[in-house]
Order: sequence, then C-alpha cells, then structure tokens
Amino acid sequence: MTEALIVACPACNTLNRAPRDKLAAGGGKCGQCGSPLFAGHPVALSAQSFESHAAKSDIPLLVDFWAPWCGPCKAMAPQFEQAASQLEPKVRFAKVNTDEEQQLAGRFGIQGIPTMILFQRGREVARQSGLMNAAGIERWVELAGSQRRSGEQILNLEVSLDDAIKIAGKDPATEMEVVYYQGKRLSTPQDLANTQKAPGFRREDEKVIDVESTTERREWKRVNKRVTTARQLKDQVVAARAKFYEAKIPRGAGGKENIGIVEYGTNLAPGFDRARIESDLKHFLNYDAISKQYLDKLIVRFIDKTGVQDELVIPVPGGASP
Ligand SMILES: [Zn+2]
Repeated sequence: MTEALIVACPACNTLNRAPRDKLAAGGGKCGQCGSPLFAGHPVALSAQSFESHAAKSDIPLLVDFWAPWCGPCKAMAPQFEQAASQLEPKVRFAKVNTDEEQQLAGRFGIQGIPTMILFQRGREVARQSGLMNAAGIERWVELAGSQRRSGEQILNLEVSLDDAIKIAGKDPATEMEVVYYQGKRLSTPQDLANTQKAPGFRREDEKVIDVESTTERREWKRVNKRVTTARQLKDQVVAARAKFYEAKIPRGAGGKENIGIVEYGTNLAPGFDRARIESDLKHFLNYDAISKQYLDKLIVRFIDKTGVQDELVIPVPGGASP
C-alpha cells in the first residue's frame, strides 16, 4: 500500500504529495525547489510557515519553543537535533524563536522555555516544558504518539503499555511522583488510591520517589522512614540512581547534576547510626559502576515530623566512563 501523504517542504514550505513508503525509506524531494522533504534537521518556523507544517501537513509536528538568551534552550538544541535525526520522517521537527515569533508564542500560551508541543493536523496533542535529552525527547514523542484518540492518527508511533508506564514514571524533566508498592509500580493516583484501600496495606510498605527538576540539577528522591537491613541501604541508592539509568541520562547530561536523595527517619533502627550509614554507602558508591556513571551526588537526609534534621552529602567518585 502506498498511501500518499501531504508534506510541507522544509526549505520552501510548498505542500508536496509523497508516497508513505518513499518517505519511510528516506526519499522524497520537493517538487517546487528540489530540496529533500526530510533532512533530519529541525526547521525554523515563522507564523506563516507554521500553518503549512502544523495544519496542512499529514506529518505530526514537534515544535521546540525557544529563545537565544535561554541557557537550557541552548543546552537542549543539540539533543533536539539528535532526536530529529532519529525520528524524522515520522515526525517533523521544528523550532520557533519566541523572541521573533511572539504571536505564535502568545497563541499557544508559552509560559516558560524550552517548551515542546506536538501537533497533529494543527491540533496540540501533547506539551512538555523543561530541558530534555535526545532519548527523553524520543520517548516522550513516542508516548504521546501512543495516546491516540479516535479519528486521529500519529504515524507509525506505537509503544507497548509497559513502555508507556515506564516512560510516564521516569521522565526526570517532569515533576511527578512514582509510587512502588510491594515491587509493583502504581502508575496513576487511582492505582495508589485503590491499593491503599486494599486489605493488609501498610503505610510503611510505600516507597515514594519524588522528582524535582531544577535548572542546575535533577533529583530523584526515595523515602524510606526506617532502615532495618544493610540490603535496604543499598537498595535505596540503587532506586535513587535507577531512574537516571533507565532514562539513559548520564551524569553531566544537559549541564545538570544528577542527585539521588534518600531520606531516613531520625529514629534509626538498632545497628544503624549516621556513621555506619555513611561508611556503608561510601563503600557501595565506590564500586558500583552504574552509580559512577549516572549519579553525581548522593544526599542522605535524616528527617522527622518537623523536617530535615541532618544531611550527609556523598559525592560519587569519578565516572566509569569519561
Ligand atoms: Zn521546496
């Protein structure tokens, strides 16, 4: 089947009709100007060319709203470029300079940059603010593509439910909370609410991981009020760095520090004191190759009802790779 798709030319914005098979194989040139219809690079859009690419084209359009003075935007540019080379021609990648195209920025209510919006035939289907790396962008687009609504289609983009849940739970650029209960990931607030009502649910079995994304650092937080075995200590560090590992965001990516935070209650279990915890964790970080590659720093907080009482900051020794 060679269904024809309408594609706007990245060079002259002329609308072309191109067979899907040919596009998928990396071919297709503009009938007007001869430029390749997809070159694997984001195209800069103005208010005029935006309409051709967003509303008149059959190809989903991913726009990075950015500005030249924005540090995170600059950090994201090569990542966006890399994702374009991976995902085109399934998705057209484009950039809108919000200083020059204030009308577009206003029309879509851009509050902070960088902001990415995925459009399908002119309609916004997903939006994401904050710095993301190439792998994160690719997964986010694929996830958005999997959330089809009837009558609409994102081209050839599907992820399994498993992947979708993984993605939903692990995007460090988004503030969200992932809760595990007895090893099972509860991906929605409804999951959590149902589980908390289940017979035998014990609050202390909850393991909460918070994500905070700031411009300087990314944090995963794991809360476990009481530690009773050395194994638990190690497991918490593993959990605190697992999110960066799963999302393939090595230390230093995007100019941010990856910081794992674990929080313990001040009423430590017998056999555990601050010095023991510090030496055990230092020892673990010293030989754990994944921590060395994905974690810049581990912060251990000792908390009670009134807040953080004490804090250990443990830098992770040199990376396993440069
Ligand atoms: Zn052209």
